[in-house]
Amino acid sequence: MLRIYRRHQRRCPRRRMGQRYWLCNCPIWVRGQIDGRGIREATGLTDWEEAVDFANAWMRLGVRPPAVDASTTTAPPMSLEEAWDEFVTRKQSAHRLREPTLYKYRHLKSEMLAFTRPRGLVLLKDCALNVLESFQSGWKQADITCLKELERLKAFFRFCHTRGWIDANPAVGLMSPKVRPKQTLPFTPAEMQRMIAATYRYRDKSKHIGQSNAKRLLALILLLRYSGLRIGGEASRCGRRKLVPAGGIEPTA
Ligand SMILES: [Zn+2]
Repeated sequence: MLRIYRRHQRRCPRRRMGQRYWLCNCPIWVRGQIDGRGIREATGLTDWEEAVDFANAWMRLGVRPPAVDASTTTAPPMSLEEAWDEFVTRKQSAHRLREPTLYKYRHLKSEMLAFTRPRGLVLLKDCALNVLESFQSGWKQADITCLKELERLKAFFRFCHTRGWIDANPAVGLMSPKVRPKQTLPFTPAEMQRMIAATYRYRDKSKHIGQSNAKRLLALILLLRYSGLRIGGEASRCGRRKLVPAGGIEPTA
């Protein structure tokens, strides 16, 4: 199935209305799938009726109709936002990432747009190495978090480069923060006591959910204590498994 849409040019007054708006004269693109192959190409047309015929002919023939040659059409440059949307969509459909991971990509997207927009950088190709470097220098999180953020940023630009949306990959030149391992010491018995006491103290604050949430929190604290699992990684995966009374974790099928 193929779908046509306008890829609005920068000067198009209706650009903000997005791809759903078609009553302008911007270039028409086609996207979708033919025999499981992803397609995203310029039709070389600006007339909507002609583009409909073109897309129908493509679906009927199974190959791009010869009338318009893709190599002679000049594709409008990809905007940064559009590239991000495409990237996140692919991450979701092909990598089958779950919502918490997708959220991290979406968050990076909005951080990046918040950085580039006020500087008038709208297009993907506006993001040169020096732009990315000053974007990176604004990161204030812990080293390890910045490293993860950088990996995501590099993945995005690799994606764009592979698809030919940019001639060179600017993110290759970004340097990684040096992560110094921090020794994690176990909680002291007094700290453990305070944590457990807290689940009793706050139990009655919110009437219905308070009771059961306090029990869940107590169970989680004890699970982490006796299993040595970290709260971020392993423990969240255990959430999908069943805790058995004997004290172990039963893997689900
Ligand atoms: Zn337009």
